[in-house]
Amino acid sequence: MSNLDTLVADTLQTLERIAAEYSPAVFASSLAAEDMVLTDLILKNRLGIGIFSLETGRLHKETLAMLDKVKERYGYDIALFRPQQEAVDGYVTQHGLNAFYDSVEMRRECCRIRKVEPLGRALAGNKAWITGQRRAQAATRSSLAVHEDDPAHLMDKFNPLADWSEQDVWDYLRIHDVPVNALHAQGFPSIGCEPCTRAIEPGEDVRAGRWWWENPESKECGLHVVDGKLIRIKSVAA
Ligand code: SF4
Repeated sequence: MSNLDTLVADTLQTLERIAAEYSPAVFASSLAAEDMVLTDLILKNRLGIGIFSLETGRLHKETLAMLDKVKERYGYDIALFRPQQEAVDGYVTQHGLNAFYDSVEMRRECCRIRKVEPLGRALAGNKAWITGQRRAQAATRSSLAVHEDDPAHLMDKFNPLADWSEQDVWDYLRIHDVPVNALHAQGFPSIGCEPCTRAIEPGEDVRAGRWWWENPESKECGLHVVDGKLIRIKSVAA
């Protein structure tokens, strides 16, 4: 058995255990390469794990196009969770559409409105959630475990691809002919909101294109607990 076959078997076993022991469970997909590996495994094996995406209102058209590609390939509609319009309007009116460039606090407040709050609604009523995070993706993910406690959402959290390398991900996608986000071919290894994500140069860290104007230590959107600590979301008012 190849290393990839072993990884796939272990990952499928993890997903089957989640489906059996943590139902209802949901998978949060950002429609990036890693997420498509999990989408393929969940839907082809009919595991009964729901899939959702956070439609922040600032996604690339290539990312939104993935919704149709998933529908076409698997006959599955990914559920979309959007921010509350009043909160978006309040932020934009008070600070401006792109105020997230001004400070880490402003950026985290935008992420809180467009991602963190909708995530809370998406996770409500579930026993566990699943992400496509990998340990090798960033300094903030170096100690990522496959199974974690998520104190912020009071549920279990699974990162079934924690042990996978970038090469493993792309080998799987190629072998199984899985649809992928067109942005990857344009130099975007990590997919996020359009104004906060840029293409990277060969050899750069895969997360270097996310919030590239910030220090690496602050590059999370508040959706995840990192190294046992919640990445705090400060309100601008505070
Ligand atoms: S990634 Fe950028 S645009 Fe998207 S929610 Fe965060 S700050 Fe706002």
